[in-house]
Amino acid sequence: MKILVVNAGSSSLKYQLLDMENDKLLAKGNCEKIGLADPIISYKHDGKEEIFEGAKNHEEAIKKVLDVLVDKKNGVIKSFDEIGAIGHRVVMGGWIFKESTLIDDKVIEQIDRLSEMAPLHNPAHVLCMRACKKVMPNIPQVAVFDTSFHSSMPEKAYMYAIKYEDYEKFHVRRYGAHGTSHRFVTQELAKVLGKDVSEVNAITCHLGNGSSITAIKNGKSVDTSMGLTPLQGVVMGTRSGDIDPTVVQFLCSHKNQSVDQVLNYLNKECGLLGISGISSDHREVSQSAKKSNKRAQLALDLLAYSVKKYIGMYMAVLNGAEAIVFTGGIGENSYEAREQILQDLEYLGIVLDKDKNKNFKRGQIELISSPKSKVKVYVIPTNEELMMAKDTLEIVKNLKNSK
Ligand code: ADP
Repeated sequence: MKILVVNAGSSSLKYQLLDMENDKLLAKGNCEKIGLADPIISYKHDGKEEIFEGAKNHEEAIKKVLDVLVDKKNGVIKSFDEIGAIGHRVVMGGWIFKESTLIDDKVIEQIDRLSEMAPLHNPAHVLCMRACKKVMPNIPQVAVFDTSFHSSMPEKAYMYAIKYEDYEKFHVRRYGAHGTSHRFVTQELAKVLGKDVSEVNAITCHLGNGSSITAIKNGKSVDTSMGLTPLQGVVMGTRSGDIDPTVVQFLCSHKNQSVDQVLNYLNKECGLLGISGISSDHREVSQSAKKSNKRAQLALDLLAYSVKKYIGMYMAVLNGAEAIVFTGGIGENSYEAREQILQDLEYLGIVLDKDKNKNFKRGQIELISSPKSKVKVYVIPTNEELMMAKDTLEIVKNLKNSK
């Protein structure tokens, strides 16, 4: 079966078409600047990339995606009928969705209801689901939630120590994010360790523009660094990560700004970008640090220190982990970041093989700890789209069987 995986934002729609017979990626691309000036859609297949005129809205975007996929000259499929299902990434599943779910009108309504907790994302997901339903009414759609992997967290990990009545009334708690990535690398780790997933105890570090660290016990998430929203946790590209909430009030008063403005600032202007004053991109900040830019170095130090603290914390939570996994753009690619994060952790049984950490073929699973390290350290490339497609296939398969 071929599965279309979509990841819709307010002005973008990333897509991948996968053939699940062999987990092969057939084509991928992005509808960018939807509804804005000069929208474009990119289409990558067979090592080529083409760019076409983009879309005015999400409905048109999904039509354009289908058009490029079935294009007579360059299409990778002959007709829409070859697409067996659509998998949608959904950022916030809240307390409602504990696993990937077949989409119907009620599910769309519930995802919409959760928009308050992910105002930039859930409304766009809903738009995209409705557009797909209109354009391809007979193709089943599945929602895959960033939060659902973390629904196994115990109360003591997901609760904030606020008034219990407010938690009950407003569902204010930790939900986490990047669940699809943490779940994927946990499954990959189980394979390399030769174990069942239920036997895996590890700390997974997804480090990209957004970053989160997860404690995995018996293959399940028992704690994660992101919170009610992806602002909490480690230092990120443009997000501050953990902060004393009073800082918000302090900045509101000193900058004469509203709470919304300050939260927007903490999400978009802080982290690597805010400290370095150069960029949110780890590569660019690293380059400046190498040229002795002190603030760039400080930004990298803060990021590494924050990840290291979470590793220490989760070692305590898990009573020791068998492995630490690095994934995401920074986790997979920056040997300097990995080295800095794992420096001086011998006490916890973590010893990096510095040569291996620096010199290995990227894009594959690699063990980078020294043989004397009690804890194994791996780099595992993530593949959230494949994980989403697998979930979608599983649900649709059952659907067909039950018919
Ligand atoms: P997102 O969270 O948006 O999915 P990614 O996982 O692609 O982002 O991660 C983006 C981050 O990865 C950027 O900070 C980028 O600088 C960093 N990155 C990507 N490639 C490299 C590399 N070769 N060396 C260091 N950092 C890299």
